[in-house]
Amino acid sequence: MKNTRICPKCGGSRVVRIPDHPGRYASGNNIYTTRFTLLGKIPVIRYVCCDCGYAEDWVESPAEWVQLWQTYGDMPGAER
Ligand SMILES: [Zn+2]
Repeated sequence: MKNTRICPKCGGSRVVRIPDHPGRYASGNNIYTTRFTLLGKIPVIRYVCCDCGYAEDWVESPAEWVQLWQTYGDMPGAER
């Protein structure tokens, strides 16, 4: 969906990219890594199908994938 702009649920092509923005940080919708305070917050980009309403969330920066893995990837008992 992120790369093809085609909805995997309905096959529609009216997929829009909803960028992250600072105001959303107050909504509680982003992934927090603040238990390790140096990492801060990770922006999440949402793709929404305007034909059926299906939505996907993507962290687009490889540097942030690394941060998330380092924060949660090897934590015993953490949800994967
Ligand atoms: Zn759809």
